[in-house]
Amino acid sequence: MDKALKALVAGGAGFLGSHVCRRLLAQGYSVICLDNLQTGRRKNVDVLLSNEKFRFVEADVRDPLPFDNYAEIWNLACPASPPHYQADPVGTMLINVIGMKNVLDLAVQCGARVFQASTSEIYGDPEVHPQGESYRGAVNAIGPRACYDEGKRAAETLCFDYHRHYGVEIKVVRIFNTYGPNMDPEDGRVVSNFIVSALAGRSLELYGGGSQTRSFCYVDDLVDGFFCLMRSDAAITGPINIGNPGEFTVRELAEIVLEMTGSKSGIVDRPLPKDDPLQRRPDITLAGSLLGWSPKVPLREGLKKAIAYFEAESGIPAPVGMAEDSVRQ
Ligand code: NAD
Ligand code: UDP
Repeated sequence: MDKALKALVAGGAGFLGSHVCRRLLAQGYSVICLDNLQTGRRKNVDVLLSNEKFRFVEADVRDPLPFDNYAEIWNLACPASPPHYQADPVGTMLINVIGMKNVLDLAVQCGARVFQASTSEIYGDPEVHPQGESYRGAVNAIGPRACYDEGKRAAETLCFDYHRHYGVEIKVVRIFNTYGPNMDPEDGRVVSNFIVSALAGRSLELYGGGSQTRSFCYVDDLVDGFFCLMRSDAAITGPINIGNPGEFTVRELAEIVLEMTGSKSGIVDRPLPKDDPLQRRPDITLAGSLLGWSPKVPLREGLKKAIAYFEAESGIPAPVGMAEDSVRQ
């Protein structure tokens, strides 16, 4: 097999990983998807099994990884939703340390280029706004989010130490909140929670009053950015922010989802989880200048596709008249 066209995708059965697998196959790659299905779903990858270049391996990235002549290793293995990563905090930390080390050791053996799915959580509850890559962040090292935030910080450290000491080619992307098809309806993050509740006629749960902000990126834009980075010159290591700088309060998101689904659901207040960041918006200047990348899909256009996906997943149709005219640029 041509090494240039062989990739390992750890976490490939998850939301983002399944999009990466699909794109790699479309580009002619042979893809080994390795996933322990902790938060990923077989249905995300079963549709790819008809392609003879695709193989699914149920395994844990914390265990020794299968050697092959990979040109690329994409590391997306880690639960990303706060309720999921906090359910097994020690496991989450170890995925990011042991799992990352396993990926990098494998890359040393086979000379692969490594993609690391890092996160805006590197910036913690940021005092700088918007967040550029040079901002070093404000993470509470002992809080309930630390297993993820500090784990991802340690993973970045490992990437850069393997790069400096062993010459591993690395591509580190800091991902900001992303949504779209292949998300698990039970994932627990805000976009899926709001849409699924709105479609089911249940109240949307708004944590902490909803004045905190997030910047939501549609998955196709994000994955475009991944590939721009992964196929860029070896000198471009990142970390590099990929996200949509359009910033919304969580309350605004709830209201938009209710309007677009035509749902009669209400909004109920719930407490703000500890250390929940109060504001988040990516500075994507670097992605523009180094990669020529910027997002194309505005929130309402992306939400329209996400609503259609969750509608199909849940079997619950949005009320009639889900509005073509609710999609504004
Ligand atoms: P996801 O939970 O849908 O996908 C994670 C995948 O990793 C799942 O398929 C899961 O089963 C797998 N996995 C978890 N632990 C594993 C282990 N020990 N061994 C093997 N596989 C394991 O989440 P996602 O949104 O697709 O996130 C993918 C990556 O991107 C994660 O590393 C996440 O931290 C990062 N990220 C995502 C976002 C986002 O908005 N989606 C934002 C920032 C960072
Ligand atoms: N949130 C909410 N209701 C929900 C889920 C989340 O109000 O049902 C809030 C959460 O407190 C946070 C924001 O929405 O302020 C984004 O949460 P998510 O879990 O999607 O991502 P993260 O906090 O990791 O950015």
